[in-house]
Amino acid sequence: MAMSPMMQEYCKTKEQYKDCILFYRLGDFYEMFFDDALLVTRELEITLTGKDCGLEERAPMCGVPYHAAETYINRLIERGHKVAICEQVEDPKKAKGLVKREVVRIVTPGTTLDAAALDETKNNYLMSIVSMEEHFGCAIADITTGDCFLTEVDKPQKLLDEINKFVPAEIICNDSFYMSNIDTDDLQNRLGICVFSLDSWYFDDELCRRTLKDHFHVGSLEGLGVGDYDCGIIAAGALFLYLKETQKTALSHMTTIRPYAAEKYMLIDSSSRRNLELVETLREKQKRGSLLWVLDKTKTAMGARTLRSYVEQPLIDRDEIEQRLEALEELNKNGMLRDEIREYLGPVYDLERLISRISYKSANPRDLIAFASSLEMLPYIKQVLKEFKTPLLQKIYEDMDSLEDVTDLIKRAIVEDPPLAQKDGGIIKEGYNEDVDKFRRSRTDGKKWLSELEAKERERTGIKTMKIKYNRVFGYSLEITNTFKDLVPDNYIRKQTLTNAERYITQELKELEDLILGAEDKLYALEYELFCDVRDAVGKEVMRIQKTAKAVAALDVFASLALVAERNHFVRPKTNTTGVIDIKNGRHPVVEQMIENDMFIANDTYLDNHKKRVSIITGPNMAGKSTYMRQTALIVLMAQIGSFVPAEKANIGIVDRIFTRVGASDDLASGQSTFMVEMTEVANILRNATARSLLILDEIGRGTSTFDGLAIAWAVIEHISNTKLCGAKTLFATHYHELTELEGKIPGVNNYCIAVKEKGDDIVFLRKIVQGGADKSYGIQVAKLAGVPDSVIQRAKELVEELSDADITAAVKDLTSAKKKKPVYDQMDMAQMSLFDTVKDNDIIDEIKGLDMGNMTPIEAMNTLYNLQNKIKNRW
Ligand code: ATP
Repeated sequence: MAMSPMMQEYCKTKEQYKDCILFYRLGDFYEMFFDDALLVTRELEITLTGKDCGLEERAPMCGVPYHAAETYINRLIERGHKVAICEQVEDPKKAKGLVKREVVRIVTPGTTLDAAALDETKNNYLMSIVSMEEHFGCAIADITTGDCFLTEVDKPQKLLDEINKFVPAEIICNDSFYMSNIDTDDLQNRLGICVFSLDSWYFDDELCRRTLKDHFHVGSLEGLGVGDYDCGIIAAGALFLYLKETQKTALSHMTTIRPYAAEKYMLIDSSSRRNLELVETLREKQKRGSLLWVLDKTKTAMGARTLRSYVEQPLIDRDEIEQRLEALEELNKNGMLRDEIREYLGPVYDLERLISRISYKSANPRDLIAFASSLEMLPYIKQVLKEFKTPLLQKIYEDMDSLEDVTDLIKRAIVEDPPLAQKDGGIIKEGYNEDVDKFRRSRTDGKKWLSELEAKERERTGIKTMKIKYNRVFGYSLEITNTFKDLVPDNYIRKQTLTNAERYITQELKELEDLILGAEDKLYALEYELFCDVRDAVGKEVMRIQKTAKAVAALDVFASLALVAERNHFVRPKTNTTGVIDIKNGRHPVVEQMIENDMFIANDTYLDNHKKRVSIITGPNMAGKSTYMRQTALIVLMAQIGSFVPAEKANIGIVDRIFTRVGASDDLASGQSTFMVEMTEVANILRNATARSLLILDEIGRGTSTFDGLAIAWAVIEHISNTKLCGAKTLFATHYHELTELEGKIPGVNNYCIAVKEKGDDIVFLRKIVQGGADKSYGIQVAKLAGVPDSVIQRAKELVEELSDADITAAVKDLTSAKKKKPVYDQMDMAQMSLFDTVKDNDIIDEIKGLDMGNMTPIEAMNTLYNLQNKIKNRW
């Protein structure tokens, strides 16, 4: 038995799109067959049916109505599938044989355009990664806005930082990416990023270069400013090849590709991003409670997206930071004008996404009106903005094109309240096009025209009884009774003969007939054509519009930051490059919002690159150690975004990286133990921190035995405070009071504690940071506060007496005595050593790399291998 011709066609198409679910258009439905049908019924819980396909067994089939398809497609995309949409590309009525069908678009998580599936305050990124011999090229695009970037990094860790910065919806990559130690399952499970590898031809150097040159219409890639990015070009080329293949359009809104150096921005690794709750909270993954939540008072979707990207990418260039701060200051000095600008920004729609839809020819008439009404605000915004003098605001003014020609065109052409449908007329304004007006009039005025013609012909011929008649078959005609036969003029053409009359047609009547009868169809077609012309004409201005949209977005961000600063009593920080961080009465921007009645207690921070490098912070649980440390990190980060900061005064030494290791966050999802996660993060920090970095270390070493933990914490402090090894400014919170012994013994280390007051058996939190170390934990008091039963509290008190930690303290005193020269870890047994070595694992790899195999005898090689093996055995 042979398959039916339709099914054969289906199978041919499916063969070309094996990795996609094929939505095959049959009449008013998209149908899926065979494995696709089984998969989709499972994923979407829709009914599985069957279709006779010519074979003995019916083909499994399921379908969704075409008008509701977007919802189904979104759900499939969310679950990490790709969907190929196969449409009928010819009118079924006119088709000879099978209707011609073609795949018109492939929807993937990183290329969806459906507004319902997108969060307007977030970019939807597609990231292309090519891994080549220890180097990674990385290109990122958001096709809903036309943004496109490219960079290169040399380490998997740095690549991971970029992935965490953009959190793309989808990554496309070459096969070698899977060897790079980056856990793609983790990307998928934790961040919801779909990872697809592409065939190797996508990454062909020559093809990639040609693709970019063709797309951007340039003779050389130097002209695009990406000439130096060998790997980056391949990533970008593959990205464009993929986009062309999936979108099947010219992508005319992707007008630039912006290369950037990852080092241009502050480096924040993924766990620090999470810990500092920059854009969402750690536990609930919500915006409320994050830094972005406090800072975001933007009026437009473009502004919201831009602010998010500022928060994700703080600057390290002092001039750029100062420029932003200066702009904020000017906006706040002119609060009334700032608020006026914000008023005008209110009605501005998402210009970036609208212009992309316009370029894609998917914008409807209402989109154009929304677009024009947004553009109408631009001249007002510009007029106010003109008053501002700081370079950044001036630049925004210059970049902002008031686009009056575009607004004018849309306003002239499209009615104010057009329908959603594009092919049912009612779109074009009166007076814009003569024919439209004529067609419209012909519908209403048709009768009048006919009687006018009738009167005119009666007059001309003298046949007073001549009448215009209508017949469904013959249309309009002039009926003349046989009595007047002789008076019929030559230009009358006989159409129909009746018993006592003849019916005629004239050229003029024929035209009128065409006009009246075909008016509606013609009107609709012409209106659609004109609408498309207007849309295309607007689309041609994509560059001007995108540049303006960027300017509007930046203005919105600065106006929002300025307003937030004013409302929350933030101050303009000073910045310096000497490394001093000096904050007077700093506050936590988020916690202060959560606490009622202005009860937040402000605290000072002082760190520098000399005597005040490392602060060891002790104090009971709940005292506010984490809050204090995070607030310092957030104040520095805010300053480097270009925001004012929650403090009375602040002078911020610009940092290159912020690392945080906070709390014992379990990472069961990624299959690692709490302690392993903690140590991995510590390892990352120690390897990558520099003297210009800021480290926030909260309770390192808590996840293991007291002795091991203390030893690790200690050794970490030694490592950090050693200016040759690291020298980073560090806030280190700990419950190991023994570590306060390090003050005065290790240069740069100082003790601080968060004050509490004892009140009988209870404690009162004062939340004030003071110099010196705490000597008690008050853990039992805090447990009591938390409501742990009295019997347990009593027993704990008894036990604490017995379990006096005198032993540990004695050992510590011994270790810090002046006689001991050797580093502390020399004093410990191998089990403890091994923990440090999790940090130093790569030494062995480095040793292997450094071997000169060519000049080794077999015996030497054996010995070396033996030694290496011993080292590894000892470590694990
Ligand atoms: P633990 O050692 O148990 O982790 P901690 O010392 O790190 O505790 P935090 O988590 O920082 O304590 O603070 C506990 C709570 O105290 C916070 O949730 C906040 O509500 C309040 N708090 C912290 N700092 C302040 C402050 N400066 N002013 C007012 N309230 C504060």
